[in-house]
Amino acid sequence: MDFSFTEEQKILQRMVRDFATRELEPIARRLDEVEEFPHESVRKMADIGLLGMGLDPAYGGSGGGFTPFIIAMEEISRASAAMSTILSVQVSLCGQPLDRFGTKEQKERYLSFLTQGKKLAAFALSEPNAGSDAASIETTATRKGETYVLQGSKVFISCGDVADIYIVFAVQERVKKARGITAFILERGTPGLKVKKQGGKLGIRASTTAELLFDDCRVPLENRLGEEGAGFRIAMQIIDPSRIGVAAQAVGIAQAALDASVSYAQQRRQFGKLLGEFQAIQWMLADMATQVDAARLLMYRAADLKDRGLPFSKESAMAKVFASEAAMAVAVKAVQIYGGYGYFQESPVERYFRDAKITEIYEGTSEVQRMVISRNLLPEIFKREREDKSV
Ligand SMILES: Cc1cc2nc3c(=O)[nH]c(=O)nc-3n(C[C@H](O)[C@H](O)[C@H](O)COP(=O)(O)OP(=O)(O)OC[C@H]3O[C@@H](n4cnc5c(N)ncnc54)[C@H](O)[C@@H]3O)c2cc1C
Repeated sequence: MDFSFTEEQKILQRMVRDFATRELEPIARRLDEVEEFPHESVRKMADIGLLGMGLDPAYGGSGGGFTPFIIAMEEISRASAAMSTILSVQVSLCGQPLDRFGTKEQKERYLSFLTQGKKLAAFALSEPNAGSDAASIETTATRKGETYVLQGSKVFISCGDVADIYIVFAVQERVKKARGITAFILERGTPGLKVKKQGGKLGIRASTTAELLFDDCRVPLENRLGEEGAGFRIAMQIIDPSRIGVAAQAVGIAQAALDASVSYAQQRRQFGKLLGEFQAIQWMLADMATQVDAARLLMYRAADLKDRGLPFSKESAMAKVFASEAAMAVAVKAVQIYGGYGYFQESPVERYFRDAKITEIYEGTSEVQRMVISRNLLPEIFKREREDKSV
Protein backbone atom coordinates (compact mmCIF):
# COMPACT_ATOMS: atom_id res chain seq x y z
CA MET A 1 0.00 0.00 0.00
CA ASP A 2 1.53 3.31 -1.09
CA PHE A 3 0.21 6.55 0.40
CA SER A 4 2.72 8.83 -1.31
CA PHE A 5 2.15 11.18 -4.24
CA THR A 6 3.89 10.70 -7.58
CA GLU A 7 6.44 13.38 -8.60
CA GLU A 8 3.83 14.85 -10.99
CA GLN A 9 1.23 15.02 -8.22
CA LYS A 10 3.72 16.73 -5.89
CA ILE A 11 4.48 19.35 -8.54
CA LEU A 12 0.77 19.92 -9.15
CA GLN A 13 0.08 20.28 -5.43
CA ARG A 14 2.89 22.83 -5.03
CA MET A 15 1.78 24.76 -8.08
CA VAL A 16 -1.87 24.98 -6.98
CA ARG A 17 -0.92 25.75 -3.38
CA ASP A 18 1.34 28.62 -4.51
CA PHE A 19 -1.39 29.95 -6.78
CA ALA A 20 -4.05 29.73 -4.07
CA THR A 21 -1.82 31.34 -1.44
CA ARG A 22 -0.75 34.15 -3.75
CA GLU A 23 -3.95 34.87 -5.69
CA LEU A 24 -6.90 33.69 -3.61
CA GLU A 25 -6.09 33.73 0.10
CA PRO A 26 -5.46 37.50 0.29
CA ILE A 27 -8.85 38.31 -1.28
CA ALA A 28 -10.97 35.46 0.11
CA ARG A 29 -12.44 37.55 2.93
CA ARG A 30 -13.35 40.45 0.65
CA LEU A 31 -14.93 38.10 -1.89
CA ASP A 32 -17.00 36.62 0.93
CA GLU A 33 -18.13 40.07 2.10
CA VAL A 34 -19.24 41.43 -1.28
CA GLU A 35 -20.96 38.18 -2.34
CA GLU A 36 -20.15 38.78 -5.99
CA PHE A 37 -18.92 36.30 -8.58
CA PRO A 38 -15.09 36.58 -8.80
CA HIS A 39 -14.68 36.69 -12.61
CA GLU A 40 -11.06 37.81 -12.43
CA SER A 41 -10.00 34.97 -10.12
CA VAL A 42 -11.86 32.42 -12.24
CA ARG A 43 -9.97 33.68 -15.29
CA LYS A 44 -6.71 33.16 -13.39
CA MET A 45 -7.75 29.58 -12.53
CA ALA A 46 -8.43 29.05 -16.25
CA ASP A 47 -5.02 30.51 -17.16
CA ILE A 48 -3.19 27.85 -15.12
CA GLY A 49 -5.32 25.06 -16.60
CA LEU A 50 -7.50 24.22 -13.60
CA LEU A 51 -10.79 24.41 -15.52
CA GLY A 52 -9.76 21.62 -17.88
CA MET A 53 -8.55 19.15 -15.27
CA GLY A 54 -9.31 15.54 -16.17
CA LEU A 55 -11.20 16.60 -19.30
CA ASP A 56 -10.52 15.50 -22.88
CA PRO A 57 -7.34 17.17 -24.28
CA ALA A 58 -9.01 17.25 -27.72
CA TYR A 59 -11.29 19.94 -26.25
CA GLY A 60 -8.73 21.88 -24.24
CA GLY A 61 -8.66 19.65 -21.15
CA SER A 62 -5.56 18.27 -19.48
CA GLY A 63 -6.71 14.62 -19.42
CA GLY A 64 -5.20 12.44 -16.72
CA GLY A 65 -7.06 10.83 -13.89
CA PHE A 66 -9.39 12.12 -11.21
CA THR A 67 -6.86 12.30 -8.35
CA PRO A 68 -5.09 15.43 -9.70
CA PHE A 69 -8.45 17.24 -9.67
CA ILE A 70 -8.95 16.19 -6.04
CA ILE A 71 -5.49 17.51 -5.15
CA ALA A 72 -6.36 20.84 -6.77
CA MET A 73 -9.76 20.99 -5.04
CA GLU A 74 -8.17 20.58 -1.61
CA GLU A 75 -5.55 23.27 -2.26
CA ILE A 76 -8.03 25.81 -3.66
CA SER A 77 -10.41 25.12 -0.74
CA ARG A 78 -7.68 25.88 1.81
CA ALA A 79 -7.61 29.42 0.45
CA SER A 80 -11.23 29.92 -0.60
CA ALA A 81 -14.05 27.38 -0.45
CA ALA A 82 -16.19 29.62 -2.67
CA MET A 83 -13.58 29.36 -5.43
CA SER A 84 -13.48 25.58 -5.15
CA THR A 85 -17.27 25.44 -5.47
CA ILE A 86 -16.90 27.31 -8.77
CA LEU A 87 -14.10 24.95 -9.84
CA SER A 88 -16.18 21.92 -8.96
CA VAL A 89 -19.26 23.17 -10.83
CA GLN A 90 -17.29 24.05 -13.94
CA VAL A 91 -15.16 20.88 -14.14
CA SER A 92 -16.92 18.16 -12.25
CA LEU A 93 -20.64 18.92 -12.57
CA CYS A 94 -20.64 20.44 -16.08
CA GLY A 95 -17.39 19.60 -17.90
CA GLN A 96 -17.66 15.91 -17.00
CA PRO A 97 -21.20 15.29 -18.34
CA LEU A 98 -20.32 17.04 -21.61
CA ASP A 99 -17.10 15.05 -21.85
CA ARG A 100 -18.71 11.71 -21.03
CA PHE A 101 -22.12 11.99 -22.64
CA GLY A 102 -21.89 14.84 -25.17
CA THR A 103 -21.78 14.45 -28.95
CA LYS A 104 -18.73 15.62 -30.89
CA GLU A 105 -20.65 18.76 -31.90
CA GLN A 106 -21.70 19.48 -28.30
CA LYS A 107 -18.11 19.08 -27.10
CA GLU A 108 -16.83 21.40 -29.83
CA ARG A 109 -19.51 23.95 -29.15
CA TYR A 110 -19.45 23.92 -25.36
CA LEU A 111 -16.73 21.80 -23.71
CA SER A 112 -13.84 23.44 -25.53
CA PHE A 113 -15.00 26.83 -24.16
CA LEU A 114 -15.58 25.54 -20.61
CA THR A 115 -12.05 24.12 -20.31
CA GLN A 116 -10.61 27.55 -21.27
CA GLY A 117 -12.94 29.49 -18.98
CA LYS A 118 -14.42 31.28 -22.00
CA LYS A 119 -17.86 30.04 -21.03
CA LEU A 120 -19.16 29.39 -17.53
CA ALA A 121 -21.58 26.59 -16.76
CA ALA A 122 -24.12 25.56 -14.13
CA PHE A 123 -25.72 22.23 -13.19
CA ALA A 124 -29.46 22.54 -12.68
CA LEU A 125 -31.07 19.57 -10.96
CA SER A 126 -32.57 20.79 -7.65
CA GLU A 127 -36.07 22.26 -7.55
CA PRO A 128 -38.30 23.86 -4.93
CA ASN A 129 -40.02 20.48 -4.30
CA ALA A 130 -37.18 18.12 -5.18
CA GLY A 131 -33.83 18.29 -3.38
CA SER A 132 -32.77 15.03 -1.71
CA ASP A 133 -35.49 13.27 -3.70
CA ALA A 134 -34.07 14.41 -7.04
CA ALA A 135 -35.96 11.74 -9.01
CA SER A 136 -39.16 13.67 -8.23
CA ILE A 137 -38.29 16.80 -10.23
CA GLU A 138 -41.30 18.53 -11.75
CA THR A 139 -39.79 20.63 -14.55
CA THR A 140 -41.21 19.16 -17.75
CA ALA A 141 -39.71 18.79 -21.22
CA THR A 142 -42.25 18.32 -24.00
CA ARG A 143 -41.11 17.57 -27.50
CA LYS A 144 -42.63 19.94 -30.08
CA GLY A 145 -41.26 19.64 -33.62
CA GLU A 146 -37.54 20.36 -33.63
CA THR A 147 -37.44 21.51 -30.00
CA TYR A 148 -38.07 20.42 -26.42
CA VAL A 149 -40.15 22.91 -24.46
CA LEU A 150 -39.09 23.35 -20.83
CA GLN A 151 -41.60 24.44 -18.21
CA GLY A 152 -40.84 24.73 -14.50
CA SER A 153 -38.10 26.01 -12.20
CA LYS A 154 -34.82 25.22 -10.45
CA VAL A 155 -33.41 26.54 -7.17
CA PHE A 156 -30.01 26.88 -5.48
CA ILE A 157 -28.11 26.67 -8.77
CA SER A 158 -24.43 27.49 -8.13
CA CYS A 159 -23.05 29.95 -10.71
CA GLY A 160 -26.56 30.11 -12.20
CA ASP A 161 -26.53 33.92 -12.32
CA VAL A 162 -23.35 34.07 -14.43
CA ALA A 163 -23.48 30.84 -16.44
CA ASP A 164 -23.42 30.88 -20.24
CA ILE A 165 -24.78 27.35 -20.40
CA TYR A 166 -26.86 25.17 -18.11
CA ILE A 167 -27.06 21.39 -17.83
CA VAL A 168 -30.78 21.09 -17.08
CA PHE A 169 -32.69 17.99 -16.01
CA ALA A 170 -36.39 17.75 -16.86
CA VAL A 171 -39.03 15.05 -16.85
CA GLN A 172 -40.56 13.85 -20.10
CA GLU A 173 -42.63 10.95 -18.81
CA ARG A 174 -43.59 11.26 -15.17
CA VAL A 175 -44.97 7.68 -14.95
CA LYS A 176 -41.49 6.35 -15.67
CA LYS A 177 -40.16 8.23 -12.59
CA ALA A 178 -36.35 8.41 -12.74
CA ARG A 179 -36.33 6.79 -16.18
CA GLY A 180 -38.53 9.57 -17.53
CA ILE A 181 -35.87 12.25 -16.89
CA THR A 182 -33.76 13.69 -19.72
CA ALA A 183 -30.76 16.06 -19.65
CA PHE A 184 -30.43 19.16 -21.85
CA ILE A 185 -27.87 21.85 -22.60
CA LEU A 186 -29.56 25.23 -22.36
CA GLU A 187 -27.90 28.46 -23.48
CA ARG A 188 -28.15 31.70 -21.55
CA GLY A 189 -30.40 34.16 -23.39
CA THR A 190 -32.79 31.47 -24.63
CA PRO A 191 -36.27 33.06 -24.73
CA GLY A 192 -38.37 31.84 -21.81
CA LEU A 193 -35.39 31.48 -19.42
CA LYS A 194 -35.36 33.84 -16.43
CA VAL A 195 -32.48 33.92 -13.96
CA LYS A 196 -32.86 35.33 -10.42
CA LYS A 197 -29.85 35.64 -8.11
CA GLN A 198 -30.42 34.13 -4.63
CA GLY A 199 -28.33 36.19 -2.21
CA GLY A 200 -27.85 36.05 1.55
CA LYS A 201 -26.05 32.72 1.94
CA LEU A 202 -24.36 31.60 5.18
CA GLY A 203 -21.09 30.64 3.50
CA ILE A 204 -19.27 30.15 0.15
CA ARG A 205 -20.71 33.57 -0.57
CA ALA A 206 -18.52 34.41 -3.59
CA SER A 207 -19.89 31.36 -5.38
CA THR A 208 -23.15 32.97 -6.33
CA THR A 209 -26.41 31.05 -6.52
CA ALA A 210 -29.54 31.50 -8.64
CA GLU A 211 -33.06 30.41 -9.30
CA LEU A 212 -33.97 29.50 -12.89
CA LEU A 213 -37.47 29.85 -14.30
CA PHE A 214 -38.47 28.18 -17.56
CA ASP A 215 -41.58 29.43 -19.27
CA ASP A 216 -42.09 27.89 -22.69
CA CYS A 217 -38.30 27.74 -22.98
CA ARG A 218 -37.26 25.98 -26.19
CA VAL A 219 -34.16 23.78 -26.44
CA PRO A 220 -33.17 22.55 -29.91
CA LEU A 221 -33.18 18.75 -30.37
CA GLU A 222 -29.41 18.69 -30.89
CA ASN A 223 -28.99 20.08 -27.34
CA ARG A 224 -30.33 16.97 -25.66
CA LEU A 225 -27.48 15.48 -23.62
CA GLY A 226 -27.52 11.67 -23.87
CA GLU A 227 -30.59 9.63 -24.71
CA GLU A 228 -34.17 10.46 -23.77
CA GLY A 229 -34.79 9.01 -20.31
CA ALA A 230 -31.06 8.78 -19.46
CA GLY A 231 -30.98 12.06 -17.51
CA PHE A 232 -31.21 10.72 -13.98
CA ARG A 233 -28.57 8.07 -14.66
CA ILE A 234 -26.30 10.80 -16.07
CA ALA A 235 -26.90 12.99 -13.01
CA MET A 236 -26.04 10.16 -10.61
CA GLN A 237 -22.97 9.08 -12.60
CA ILE A 238 -21.72 12.66 -12.40
CA ILE A 239 -22.59 13.29 -8.76
CA ASP A 240 -20.96 10.05 -7.53
CA PRO A 241 -17.38 11.19 -8.33
CA SER A 242 -18.21 14.85 -7.78
CA ARG A 243 -18.90 14.01 -4.12
CA ILE A 244 -15.22 13.13 -3.73
CA GLY A 245 -14.57 16.72 -4.83
CA VAL A 246 -16.86 17.97 -2.05
CA ALA A 247 -14.91 15.75 0.37
CA ALA A 248 -11.73 17.45 -0.90
CA GLN A 249 -13.36 20.83 -0.34
CA ALA A 250 -14.17 19.81 3.25
CA VAL A 251 -10.62 18.56 3.82
CA GLY A 252 -9.21 21.85 2.48
CA ILE A 253 -11.42 23.93 4.79
CA ALA A 254 -10.58 21.70 7.77
CA GLN A 255 -6.84 21.89 7.04
CA ALA A 256 -7.04 25.69 6.87
CA ALA A 257 -8.90 25.77 10.21
CA LEU A 258 -6.29 23.46 11.77
CA ASP A 259 -3.36 25.51 10.42
CA ALA A 260 -4.87 28.73 11.76
CA SER A 261 -5.49 27.11 15.16
CA VAL A 262 -1.96 25.73 15.44
CA SER A 263 -0.58 29.15 14.62
CA TYR A 264 -2.89 30.98 17.07
CA ALA A 265 -2.09 28.50 19.87
CA GLN A 266 1.57 29.55 19.55
CA GLN A 267 0.85 33.29 19.72
CA ARG A 268 -1.94 33.91 22.20
CA ARG A 269 -1.07 34.02 25.89
CA GLN A 270 -3.37 33.61 28.88
CA PHE A 271 -2.45 32.92 32.52
CA GLY A 272 1.14 33.75 31.52
CA LYS A 273 1.34 30.83 29.08
CA LEU A 274 0.80 30.20 25.40
CA LEU A 275 -2.56 28.56 24.62
CA GLY A 276 -0.60 25.68 23.10
CA GLU A 277 0.86 24.93 26.53
CA PHE A 278 -2.58 23.99 27.92
CA GLN A 279 -3.41 20.32 27.54
CA ALA A 280 -7.05 21.13 26.73
CA ILE A 281 -5.88 23.02 23.62
CA GLN A 282 -3.25 20.40 22.72
CA TRP A 283 -5.92 17.68 22.77
CA MET A 284 -8.28 19.74 20.64
CA LEU A 285 -5.49 20.20 18.07
CA ALA A 286 -4.66 16.48 18.21
CA ASP A 287 -8.29 15.52 17.56
CA MET A 288 -8.56 18.07 14.74
CA ALA A 289 -5.40 16.79 13.02
CA THR A 290 -6.60 13.19 13.33
CA GLN A 291 -9.97 14.03 11.79
CA VAL A 292 -8.36 15.90 8.90
CA ASP A 293 -6.01 13.00 8.14
CA ALA A 294 -8.75 10.36 8.38
CA ALA A 295 -10.95 12.39 6.03
CA ARG A 296 -8.09 12.85 3.58
CA LEU A 297 -7.38 9.12 3.51
CA LEU A 298 -11.04 8.27 2.79
CA MET A 299 -11.06 10.92 0.05
CA TYR A 300 -7.91 9.59 -1.66
CA ARG A 301 -9.12 6.00 -1.38
CA ALA A 302 -12.34 6.93 -3.22
CA ALA A 303 -10.42 8.88 -5.90
CA ASP A 304 -7.95 6.02 -6.32
CA LEU A 305 -10.76 3.47 -6.77
CA LYS A 306 -12.30 5.69 -9.44
CA ASP A 307 -8.95 6.09 -11.20
CA ARG A 308 -8.51 2.31 -11.21
CA GLY A 309 -11.96 1.78 -12.73
CA LEU A 310 -13.29 0.01 -9.61
CA PRO A 311 -16.67 0.61 -7.91
CA PHE A 312 -16.44 3.68 -5.69
CA SER A 313 -19.99 4.87 -5.00
CA LYS A 314 -20.08 3.72 -1.35
CA GLU A 315 -16.53 4.95 -0.74
CA SER A 316 -17.35 8.32 -2.30
CA ALA A 317 -20.36 8.69 0.03
CA MET A 318 -18.22 7.63 3.02
CA ALA A 319 -15.55 10.16 2.11
CA LYS A 320 -18.11 12.94 1.71
CA VAL A 321 -20.07 12.30 4.90
CA PHE A 322 -16.94 11.83 7.02
CA ALA A 323 -14.98 14.73 5.55
CA SER A 324 -17.88 17.19 5.72
CA GLU A 325 -18.70 16.31 9.34
CA ALA A 326 -14.99 16.44 10.19
CA ALA A 327 -14.73 19.90 8.57
CA MET A 328 -17.67 21.14 10.63
CA ALA A 329 -16.26 19.68 13.87
CA VAL A 330 -12.76 21.03 13.18
CA ALA A 331 -14.09 24.50 12.32
CA VAL A 332 -16.15 24.58 15.54
CA LYS A 333 -13.01 23.72 17.55
CA ALA A 334 -11.01 26.36 15.64
CA VAL A 335 -13.52 29.05 16.69
CA GLN A 336 -13.27 27.73 20.27
CA ILE A 337 -9.46 27.99 20.22
CA TYR A 338 -9.69 31.58 18.93
CA GLY A 339 -12.20 32.42 21.68
CA GLY A 340 -13.96 35.77 21.25
CA TYR A 341 -11.70 36.73 18.35
CA GLY A 342 -12.93 33.66 16.48
CA TYR A 343 -16.44 35.03 16.59
CA PHE A 344 -15.56 38.07 14.48
CA GLN A 345 -15.00 38.46 10.75
CA GLU A 346 -11.45 39.68 11.37
CA SER A 347 -10.47 36.09 12.21
CA PRO A 348 -10.10 33.57 9.38
CA VAL A 349 -11.83 30.80 11.33
CA GLU A 350 -15.21 32.52 11.31
CA ARG A 351 -15.38 32.04 7.52
CA TYR A 352 -14.18 28.42 7.70
CA PHE A 353 -16.96 27.75 10.21
CA ARG A 354 -19.61 29.17 7.83
CA ASP A 355 -18.09 27.62 4.69
CA ALA A 356 -17.79 24.12 6.19
CA LYS A 357 -21.56 23.77 6.62
CA ILE A 358 -22.37 23.60 2.89
CA THR A 359 -20.29 20.43 2.49
CA GLU A 360 -22.87 18.62 4.67
CA ILE A 361 -25.69 19.78 2.40
CA TYR A 362 -25.01 19.94 -1.32
CA GLU A 363 -24.46 17.03 -3.68
CA GLY A 364 -26.48 14.95 -1.21
CA THR A 365 -26.90 15.79 2.46
CA SER A 366 -25.18 13.70 5.14
CA GLU A 367 -28.44 11.76 5.52
CA VAL A 368 -28.44 10.97 1.79
CA GLN A 369 -24.80 9.80 1.98
CA ARG A 370 -25.77 7.45 4.83
CA MET A 371 -28.59 6.12 2.61
CA VAL A 372 -26.08 5.41 -0.17
CA ILE A 373 -23.75 3.62 2.25
CA SER A 374 -26.51 1.58 3.89
CA ARG A 375 -27.93 0.59 0.48
CA ASN A 376 -24.60 -1.01 -0.22
CA LEU A 377 -24.66 -2.79 3.13
CA LEU A 378 -28.30 -3.97 2.86
CA PRO A 379 -28.87 -4.60 -0.86
CA GLU A 380 -31.94 -6.84 -0.45
CA ILE A 381 -33.85 -4.36 1.69
CA PHE A 382 -33.27 -1.56 -0.79
CA LYS A 383 -33.96 -3.66 -3.90
CA ARG A 384 -37.71 -3.09 -3.75
CA GLU A 385 -37.30 0.66 -3.34
CA ARG A 386 -35.03 0.73 -6.40
CA GLU A 387 -37.62 -1.19 -8.42
CA ASP A 388 -40.36 1.25 -7.31
CA LYS A 389 -38.26 4.19 -8.44
CA SER A 390 -37.26 2.41 -11.65
CA VAL A 391 -33.72 3.74 -11.27
C1 LIG B 1 -25.33 26.90 -1.60
C2 LIG B 1 -26.00 25.80 -2.35
C3 LIG B 1 -25.59 25.49 -3.63
C4 LIG B 1 -26.22 24.48 -4.36
N1 LIG B 1 -25.85 24.25 -5.65
C5 LIG B 1 -26.59 23.41 -6.42
C6 LIG B 1 -26.34 23.27 -7.82
O1 LIG B 1 -25.41 23.87 -8.36
N2 LIG B 1 -27.16 22.47 -8.55
C7 LIG B 1 -28.20 21.79 -7.99
O2 LIG B 1 -28.90 21.08 -8.72
N3 LIG B 1 -28.45 21.88 -6.64
C8 LIG B 1 -27.69 22.67 -5.87
N4 LIG B 1 -27.96 22.81 -4.53
C9 LIG B 1 -29.06 22.06 -3.94
C10 LIG B 1 -28.62 20.95 -2.97
O3 LIG B 1 -28.10 19.87 -3.68
C11 LIG B 1 -29.83 20.60 -2.10
O4 LIG B 1 -30.05 21.70 -1.23
C12 LIG B 1 -29.63 19.32 -1.32
O5 LIG B 1 -29.60 18.22 -2.18
C13 LIG B 1 -30.75 19.11 -0.28
O6 LIG B 1 -32.01 19.30 -0.83
P1 LIG B 1 -33.06 20.29 -0.11
O7 LIG B 1 -32.35 21.57 0.15
O8 LIG B 1 -34.28 20.34 -0.94
O9 LIG B 1 -33.35 19.62 1.29
P2 LIG B 1 -34.43 18.48 1.57
O10 LIG B 1 -34.29 17.38 0.58
O11 LIG B 1 -35.77 19.10 1.74
O12 LIG B 1 -33.93 17.93 2.97
C14 LIG B 1 -34.18 18.62 4.20
C15 LIG B 1 -33.63 17.75 5.33
O13 LIG B 1 -34.32 16.50 5.35
C16 LIG B 1 -33.39 15.44 5.23
N5 LIG B 1 -33.99 14.34 4.47
C17 LIG B 1 -34.60 14.41 3.25
N6 LIG B 1 -35.01 13.19 2.87
C18 LIG B 1 -34.64 12.33 3.86
C19 LIG B 1 -34.78 10.92 4.07
N7 LIG B 1 -35.36 10.13 3.15
N8 LIG B 1 -34.30 10.39 5.21
C20 LIG B 1 -33.70 11.17 6.13
N9 LIG B 1 -33.53 12.50 6.00
C21 LIG B 1 -34.00 13.07 4.88
C22 LIG B 1 -32.19 16.03 4.53
O14 LIG B 1 -31.02 15.27 4.75
C23 LIG B 1 -32.15 17.41 5.16
O15 LIG B 1 -31.54 17.33 6.41
C24 LIG B 1 -27.29 23.76 -3.76
C25 LIG B 1 -27.68 24.05 -2.45
C26 LIG B 1 -27.06 25.06 -1.75
C27 LIG B 1 -27.52 25.36 -0.36
